[in-house]
Amino acid sequence: MRKEGESIDIIGLEGLSEDQIKFELSRGARFVVFQYCISIIILTFKRSSDIYFIKAGEGTFGKGIIHTLISLLLGWWGVPWGPIYTIQSLITNSCGGRDVTQAVLEAVQKETESSERPACPHCGAEYNVNDYRQDAPEWFCAQCGKTLPKE
Ligand SMILES: [Zn+2]
Repeated sequence: MRKEGESIDIIGLEGLSEDQIKFELSRGARFVVFQYCISIIILTFKRSSDIYFIKAGEGTFGKGIIHTLISLLLGWWGVPWGPIYTIQSLITNSCGGRDVTQAVLEAVQKETESSERPACPHCGAEYNVNDYRQDAPEWFCAQCGKTLPKE
């Protein structure tokens, strides 16, 4: 569905088509991240989980509790931020995680726009940059034979 390399890793999208995702979103599905923290010696790091796709009516308790447990196991003892971040993650996760739906949709939108094919400035024929070698001195339009702008 997405171009390789720049894709956003989202848990829960496996096997869903773009139409199914849009359908789920229209029914109230959302993208969320859970928070957790880990402490190393005296440093405590606040982290966000991978993005999860949560369908409408789907529970987040299990997914949230895993990250809260990580904080309780690995994060809480770091002074002074461990307990603070652990409590924050406990609250965020038990409220269903942090909603990042808007940010994800904007990122997907941008990605879709940037993957649109460029067109020949001379005749308007669309071309695929992957059809051309990056090390070629010049690219020529397959339609009109004039020089194409290299990206
Ligand atoms: Zn052309």
